[in-house]
Amino acid sequence: MTHEAGIPLGIRFKLLSDTPQDSAAQVVGDVVVGDYRDLDTLREFARGCDVITFDHEHVPTEHLRALEADGIPVRPGPDALVHAQDKGVMRAKLTEIGAPCPRHRIVSDPADVEAFAAEGSGFPVILKTVRGGYDGKGVWFVRSAKDAEEPFRAGVPVLAEEKVDFTRELAANIVRSPHGQAVAYPVVESIQVDGVCDTVIAPAPGLSEELSAQAQNLALRIAKELDVVGHLAVELFEAVDAEGNHRILVNELAMRPHNSGHWTQDGAITSQFANHVRAVLDLPLGDPRPRAEWTVMANVLGGDYPDMYSAYLHCMARDPQLKIHMYGKDVKPGRKVGHVNTYGDDLADVRERAAHAAGYLRGTITE
Ligand code: ADP
Repeated sequence: MTHEAGIPLGIRFKLLSDTPQDSAAQVVGDVVVGDYRDLDTLREFARGCDVITFDHEHVPTEHLRALEADGIPVRPGPDALVHAQDKGVMRAKLTEIGAPCPRHRIVSDPADVEAFAAEGSGFPVILKTVRGGYDGKGVWFVRSAKDAEEPFRAGVPVLAEEKVDFTRELAANIVRSPHGQAVAYPVVESIQVDGVCDTVIAPAPGLSEELSAQAQNLALRIAKELDVVGHLAVELFEAVDAEGNHRILVNELAMRPHNSGHWTQDGAITSQFANHVRAVLDLPLGDPRPRAEWTVMANVLGGDYPDMYSAYLHCMARDPQLKIHMYGKDVKPGRKVGHVNTYGDDLADVRERAAHAAGYLRGTITE
């Protein structure tokens, strides 16, 4: 989808891909199949590139430092990206700059988890592997020290967090360019089902102007302090205290076009992908404002029908305004294989159309 945003600008992409079947590898002309964890592969790939950017955060930080030392611009740079790669580093930095976070600490074993719980409000506690988690994998809700053994089995550092009693999850998406221009998209609500993002509503319904501005300013400040270049998604919890005051806490950061910004493809004047490309090339950024009062994105998960294309007839006929984005992935139950966007001025209608299309494509709705 980033490649798609580069096409009208005549920007050529070269892609390093794990396999020829990866979604981007199916559409980018110049593809190198190789392992992003291997420095020689990265060096060979980077030769001749004007700038390197990412659609995931897993390229080892030290390899990115080596590419920078070779004189290749890496955007976002490794010193920023490490905060999206390592949740321990991210929590330490955000605490240092005064960004609101859940209470947290790196823990070494189940007894340490028990001590962490005792220092605060007790169990449940959230445990997270500091690197490599996604879509809820690498996150455990534990209710006792006995419950807390599994996360330590892999032998990687584990972060403990208080369980935030949030009312909903939000995301503040911003884009920042190397010379410091930045734009902020409307803050969105993101609804998770079984740890996977299901629906995103732009803008977040009922969010006060004050909290919305706070979330946007927080994301802009984080981007500046961490020197982020490109798209930054700040995933947030909205919580209400005993006095009824709403506040936000940072859950995690993503430094690339993000699922919580997919709505911008059809719902904003400039999409997150187009603005990410502009930022990485240090071009002036495009207008992030919404095109419609409401835009809803619903993820399409794999279901029982291996051939989702047979569902197009019904979905397109039912809703001529529906925007479908499929990734060319093999359909496996529960796997994110695409998303749909709907927009309009009646939120209930816009939500229903998105949910219907996503459910129909998955096969959980049959009429
Ligand atoms: P991932 O890297 O898999 O996206 P996250 O850190 O975002 O992992 O956690 C996945 C989900 O777990 C979050 O979307 C949220 O619903 C829940 N979660 C994570 N941290 C906390 C927390 N401290 N308190 C309550 N729920 C949490």
